[in-house]
Amino acid sequence: MDTLAFPARVELARLPTPLQPLDRITEKYSTPFDGPRIWVKRDDLTEAAMSGNKLRKLEFIAGAALERGCDTLITCGGLQSNHCRTTALVGARLGLNVHLILRGEHSGEMDGNLLLDRLAGAKVSFYPQRQYFREQQEIFAHWEKVYADHGHKALLIPTGASDGLGIWGYLAGSQELLQDCHRAGFRPEYVVCATGSGGTQAGLTLGFHLAGAATVVEGYAVCDDEQYFIRKVHEDVAAWSADGGHGFDEKTLNVSVNADYIGPGYAVADEPVYRTIAEAASLEGLVLDPVYTGKAFHGLLQELGRGRYRDCDNLVFVHTGGHYGLFPHRAHFAFLE
Ligand SMILES: *Cc1c(COP(=O)(O)O)cnc(C)c1O
Repeated sequence: MDTLAFPARVELARLPTPLQPLDRITEKYSTPFDGPRIWVKRDDLTEAAMSGNKLRKLEFIAGAALERGCDTLITCGGLQSNHCRTTALVGARLGLNVHLILRGEHSGEMDGNLLLDRLAGAKVSFYPQRQYFREQQEIFAHWEKVYADHGHKALLIPTGASDGLGIWGYLAGSQELLQDCHRAGFRPEYVVCATGSGGTQAGLTLGFHLAGAATVVEGYAVCDDEQYFIRKVHEDVAAWSADGGHGFDEKTLNVSVNADYIGPGYAVADEPVYRTIAEAASLEGLVLDPVYTGKAFHGLLQELGRGRYRDCDNLVFVHTGGHYGLFPHRAHFAFLE
């Protein structure tokens, strides 16, 4: 691991983020089932408005953009994409143009992440869901050409910045987390995160593997299915290996995905998820989001109750951010009144 040469990186995140125990959650949801002490890695604190897991990936993406002489970032995501919001702010911070390809119909309302995209000065184009998925490559190529015709050079960033470059973010993140745990006096047996485009899980899984740690990374899917993410994590690691000539066989990685808590679909949650979000906030002061972290954390609590982690002493939940995505879901919290 020491011999890995990290590529160009722009320091944007405030690192290391804190590692904190969640002792009231542990007492209520884990101890009665002989489960582990639950910890949280606060990657919701990587910055302020840029916060979340995407910032770790974008440190390396931005590094590549500057190295390649790009002055424009083009990326894509849902209307409330945390990744797009982070990219918009990173672009503004570095003086780069940002163009966002967003999935869905724009109602005209600016809320949550979309408001921040706009404040950051990003250009935004909306595409209906079907066209977005069917023509994504063409849409990227179109905007790349539009910018090129105006003398700009764009870097195209895939969904969630999950590719062979973005993976470096959580390769570095896994090293940081191992140090945090070492300092706190334990080895993490399980690390749990929400999985949406796979890059966070890919970086963590690869990082712990290369460090020789016995840590199992378990991704709780928020969309798609188990097979999809096993393939996606392997693809991202294969791309990483090919890009850097690491000669790493991605098939040697054990990829663990739990797809039982997706609920009705991406960005759609049932009431128990909203109740878990409220409980984490009131018990621990930990604010989760309904699209990613709330769903994954809710799934984790259910699995603890089923004895899934009975063999384990310490489990770390990675809080990947997403706070701004909470606000457009305000109507689902009527039960608090
Ligand atoms: C994007 C995102 C995730 C998922 O990370 P991937 O690397 O895309 O799998 C999890 N939580 C939040 C808050 C996110 O924005």
